[in-house]
Amino acid sequence: MLKAAARVRKHAHAPYSDFPVGAAVLAGGKVFEGCNVENSSFPLGVCAERNAVAAAVAAGHKRIDAVAIVGGSLRPVPPCGGCRQVLAEFCGPDTPVAYSTPGGRVMRTTVGELLPSAFGAGDLQLGRAAPLKIARGGRR
Ligand SMILES: [Zn+2]
Repeated sequence: MLKAAARVRKHAHAPYSDFPVGAAVLAGGKVFEGCNVENSSFPLGVCAERNAVAAAVAAGHKRIDAVAIVGGSLRPVPPCGGCRQVLAEFCGPDTPVAYSTPGGRVMRTTVGELLPSAFGAGDLQLGRAAPLKIARGGRR
């Protein structure tokens, strides 16, 4: 999977950061790839990890079994906070994550280690079960 991530990294659109990243996720026994796609309107850029997840979901998968990321230069770069939350949506806490420099320096961890106490669907259900009582009618 790291090879797939390294391969797709070459397609990254990263003219602003000059920080190409490739990611691969394993879902349903298949590997889905994504690269970062930046935009001149910076907030519209999307990370490699989220694009790989989107490819898996678009193919009908809702469960990701492993994650691989290639980026950085001297040190392997872990997924950003936003991507950690997106991974937590489709991965279990024990889902393995490997992230590596292009030169092959690999770090291995899990989604749960990257994002302990992740917000999830269960939190929304609990919120619905105990809705907030919002005071109306202005100040008192
Ligand atoms: Zn990210």
